[in-house]
Order: sequence, then C-alpha cells, then structure tokens
Amino acid sequence: MVESEHDVALEDTDRLHGRSALVNNVKAAVALAGAVRSTLGPRGLDKMLVEDGGSATITNDGVTVLETAKVEHPTARLLISTSSAQDRAARDGTTTTVILISELLQNALELVRSGVHPSIIMNGYQIALAEALDEMERVSRVPADDSEIPAAVATSISGKIDSVVGKHLTRLALEAAGALSGEDGGKDLERLRVKRLLIKDGGVLDSEVVHGLVLPKSRMDMASSANSDGGRIAIIDGGMESPKLDFEASIEVISADALRGFHERARKRMRAQVDLLSSLGVDLLVVRDGIAEDAATLLTNAGITAYRRYEREDLERLARITGSAMVRDARRITDEDIGTYSSRSERSYSGVKHTRIDGPEGGAVTVLIRGSSPSAREEVERAFDDALGVAHRLSADSRMLPGGGATQIHLARHLRAFAPSQAGREQLAIEAFAAALEIVPRTLAENSGLDPIDEILELSAAQTASTENGAWIGMDVMSGGKVRMDEAGVFDPLFVAHHALSGAVEAANSVLKIDDVLWAKQDAQTPDWQSEMEDQD
Ligand code: ADP
Ligand code: MG
Repeated sequence: MVESEHDVALEDTDRLHGRSALVNNVKAAVALAGAVRSTLGPRGLDKMLVEDGGSATITNDGVTVLETAKVEHPTARLLISTSSAQDRAARDGTTTTVILISELLQNALELVRSGVHPSIIMNGYQIALAEALDEMERVSRVPADDSEIPAAVATSISGKIDSVVGKHLTRLALEAAGALSGEDGGKDLERLRVKRLLIKDGGVLDSEVVHGLVLPKSRMDMASSANSDGGRIAIIDGGMESPKLDFEASIEVISADALRGFHERARKRMRAQVDLLSSLGVDLLVVRDGIAEDAATLLTNAGITAYRRYEREDLERLARITGSAMVRDARRITDEDIGTYSSRSERSYSGVKHTRIDGPEGGAVTVLIRGSSPSAREEVERAFDDALGVAHRLSADSRMLPGGGATQIHLARHLRAFAPSQAGREQLAIEAFAAALEIVPRTLAENSGLDPIDEILELSAAQTASTENGAWIGMDVMSGGKVRMDEAGVFDPLFVAHHALSGAVEAANSVLKIDDVLWAKQDAQTPDWQSEMEDQD
C-alpha cells in the first residue's frame, strides 16, 4: 500500500489528536496554574526561584515565577505569554489571569467529555465574556474620596510586599505618577520617565522620590564646581572628542610641523566649541559620549562643569526636566537649545559619588530604591513598578471594582441568571464560565486558611441578601469578614480586571481551537512541579 503524502510528512512526529490533544493541553495549563496559585492575594505564600548557578530570588509575583520557570510545553508557554502581556498592559492581575485560563480550560474539558463540541464552548465563552465585561462596567465606580486611589494601589501590591512597606511604596508611586500627570506618552510613559536607582545603604523605608535626575556619576574635572543653585544647561547627544590621527588612513604626515599643525587645528576647534557654549551662558554641559581630556581645563576655565557618558534614556529625562534640546553636534548649538536647571549637587551613596540635577519643568523623576540586600531591593523594585504602573493608569481611568472575590462572585451570579436567555448548548458554556470565575475567591480563601466551599456559599448569600450594592460585598482576608470592599479598602482597578478576563478567555479559546498537536521527534515536557490531574480519558 502506498503511503499518502500526508503520512510520510508526519513520519517523524508524535501526534496527539482531538480529545487527547485537549487533555494534554489542559493538563499543562493546570500544572502551570498550580505553580502560582498559592501566591494569590495578600496571604499568598512566596516562591523561591533557584537559578542554575544557585542564585535565588524570593518572590510573590506570579509573572516573575512564570517568566523564570523553564517550561517547554507550548500550552504552558501560551499561558506565560498571556500573563506577561497582562503585566505589560496592566502591571497587575498576572496570577489571576493564569488561574482563570486553567479553570476555563478544565471546565471546558468537562463539557467536551459530556459531548459538547469545543466550538460551542468557545462561542459560549465569548458571549459570557461580553456580558461579564458589561456587567463589570456597571458595578465599577470612580473613587468616592481621596483615600480610595491609594487603597487601590495598595491592594494591587498587597500580595507582594508587607503592608508597612506597601503603604510607603504606594505613597512613592502616587508621587511619581503625579509628576507625570497631564503628560501624553501612552502606557509606557512611567517606564521611560521614572528612573529607578537601586542604592545599597539604608532600609527599604528610606526609599524616596526625587524630582530630578540622580545618577551614579561625578563631574569630569574635580577643579570645576561641585554644586550649583541653577543656571543654563546644554545637552549633547553625541561626543566632544578631538579628531584622532589615524596613521593607517591616507593622511600623509610629511613633517613634524604638519603633525603640530593637525593638533593645533584640533585644539582650535575645541576652543571654538567651548567659546560657543560660554557665549550662550552655559555653565552645565552633559554629553552622551566622551569629552576630550584636553577640553577639561578649557571648560573649567570657562566656568562650565561637564559630565560625560550619560545613557540616552537619561539624557532624554534630563532634557525633559530642564527644557533643553538634545543637540547632536556641539558646534551647531543655538540659544534655543539651551535649557535651565534649578540646582545641581553631588553626594555619595554607599561610597559612590552621585550627581543630582533638578529642573523646573517636571515630567521626570528618580526613585531611589534602598534596601539592605540585593534581593530585598529587587523585590521592592518589582512591587514599586507595579504600584507605579497601576497609579499611572488609574490617573487615566480611575474606575474601580470591589476586590476580595466580590466581583467574581457577583459576575458568577449574574451569568447564571443570564445563561437561560441564550438558546442552545452555549448556555452550558456560560455556566461553566460562571463557575470558572469562582476560582478567584476560592483560591483567596484557600490561601488564607479558610474553607473555600463555605466562603463561596456565604459570600453569595451575603451578596443576595444585601438590599443595595450587594456586588460590593467580598471577603477581607486580612480580617476574615464578609464586608463591603469599599469600606475595607480592597479595590481592584477596572482596567486590571477587564484585561485579565479578556486575556484569559482569548488564551483559553485558542487552546480549545487546537485539534491536533504534532510534535517533532520527542514529547514536549509537561511541567512536572505538579501533576494533580490524573490521566483520565
Ligand atoms: P495578581 O497577580 O493576580 O494581581 P495578587 O497576588 O496581587 O495576584 O492578588 C490579587 C487578588 O487579591 C485580587 O483578587 C484582590 O482583590 C485580592 N486581595 C487583595 N487584598 C485583599 C484583601 N485584603 N482581602 C481579600 N482579597 C484581597
Ligand atoms: Mg496584584
């Protein structure tokens, strides 16, 4: 019998088809979610990540765990990239995203086993998503007073850092975000404009926001002044080196005179550049590349303090706070390019000279992150990043939802009531979707040592019994009570919840769409940290 072309093409591959493909993919998702679910919420536990070389990171951050894990299974990779996308877009909700995908997939698998076709489930999930997103908007509200934005920011990092440090970082994040408000530059603005500087000495609570740019640099010539009460600044996005004599090039050095002439011209050019800066009233010069050594004295004599080898990103921040232009060629600088700074000072942090330059324009700040050990500083930096990201995004859209599982319990109730309005088997998928949402309160309860079944029943009952705004009743895992989340100060920003749910459904549906998995040569490994799901099927 002649083999078909198709079969020959697949000779070297392992193939999982239909149901087995789905079972295998769901298993990978469940294993991956199992690795991060214990970190969810303020009472979640930490993970210690040990790298090949033995260095360890301790973290409570879902996306950090996932991005460090060595995972090969394509479905597991899809979950990780969905979680990373959530991190980039919303800075929060990364663990929630992963456990939602896993739960949506498990519930879908149940339905497939009872005879519902995956395409019906995908359709039902889409319908449920649209309804859930609408309902989320209805439940959400803008802050009622000045305490609620800080509470929302603090909630978003409550799992990552202890509450005293969390409060401090929340204040810093709001201060830094405030400096950026009114600026147009998209979501990544806070990454570009807020410089993070990790400093060895001092405790975490000594971390601070500086309304200027601080860098571990000192001035080029110690003879120039170390401090200043302000003046005019020029920024050169290039170098101020003298041209080099390249002996391999075709300049023919005929005599010592010619060589002397060459150097003389180079000095003249440098002097002309310094004179130009001086005539424009510049007393502070910051250059991206090098500055020729023999220019140092010329500059100092002209009353100009010079700094060199600044990263481009830092130059951009400096340009912003001083209102100066970044000029490529120092010879072409004009009066319009010059900016103003309000002060400059040098000081040492843990034995390293740092220079701080403040400007009148705002729009960029430096956060000095302190902590006693490298891992403490990194954990604080990660938490600060999230807090800043959330604070910055809340300034564009401040609508908030109740945290503590309240939103998910409400949505589950709402969707169960909504399901019968849909014709056909999609109803079943909408119910499966509703049940999947309960993974969030369930996991929060589990991680706090509470009984998940009782908690969900009690929460649903409390929401139903409430005469007004039942949707806002959730569980405060710090106090253990079923209370109004706005009174407990547990808020989830709408954009975080919105993005997490849409991302989760998109990922789950793209797994459900797979009917055939072809693996070249060997099986990709299912992550083996946990294999709760026994091989059924
Ligand atoms: P993620 O990576 O998904 O943001 P977190 O570990 O930050 O995961 O946990 C976020 C969840 O914890 C949200 O559902 C939030 O409502 C909940 N949460 C935060 N603080 C509390 C609290 N005091 N009580 C109950 N739930 C809380
Ligand atoms: Mg969070």
